[in-house]
Amino acid sequence: MTSQLADRLAAVRSGIAEATRAAGRSDQPTLIVVTKFHPNQLIEDLAALGVRDVGENRHQEAQQKAADLGSLDLTWHFLGQIQTKKARQVARYADVLHAVDRIRLVEALEPIERDLDCFLQVNLTDDPARGGVAPAELEALVERTLISPRLRLLGVMAVAPLDEDPRAAFARLRGYSERVRTLAPEATAISAGMTHDYAEAVAEGATHLRIGTAITGNRPVTG
Ligand SMILES: *Cc1c(COP(=O)(O)O)cnc(C)c1O
Repeated sequence: MTSQLADRLAAVRSGIAEATRAAGRSDQPTLIVVTKFHPNQLIEDLAALGVRDVGENRHQEAQQKAADLGSLDLTWHFLGQIQTKKARQVARYADVLHAVDRIRLVEALEPIERDLDCFLQVNLTDDPARGGVAPAELEALVERTLISPRLRLLGVMAVAPLDEDPRAAFARLRGYSERVRTLAPEATAISAGMTHDYAEAVAEGATHLRIGTAITGNRPVTG
């Protein structure tokens, strides 16, 4: 089991290195291993293999895992939608929020007691239910985030639409990243790319890859 995990992790790492070379990049993107639905043991195994960044997308599960595995000293990335009323709870254990997508959420994070890194999620589809700020509202969200004392804006995040070539979608995301940087020059990060589209994301400048099943195997079936 652990050796399979090690093999899959190594395969993804070399896939990332290959995509990075192909893109002519000299920087290496950060790999976040998405561990949602998997037990603590898998995260311990990943940590033993040198993984430092893990991603979760459900609040209660993430909260429990971060508490149980505090001694591993991992960086916890919260990838899921954040309910306004749960925002302060998420901010207690998460180190990085990837799905900040509305001004009300930024306001709800105002009273937190520690500094928090965040990405603004941009919706690459026309369907508001898919999550993320509409591109037309991006600048207003950036400006509101920048005046929030505890939030450190890292950049933009997105999920590729199901019905579009991911490379084209990530090229749009790169354009939104440039728009953000005219207001926030330090916010250079781009969180994009999952199991099936990370090479395309790397080609379009992704700095943070969120990869689950290619490393962990299929998620346990729940419910
Ligand atoms: C689950 C998830 C991922 C990882 O997906 P895989 O296809 O398993 O690599 C990445 N980003 C978000 C926001 C997710 O919810």
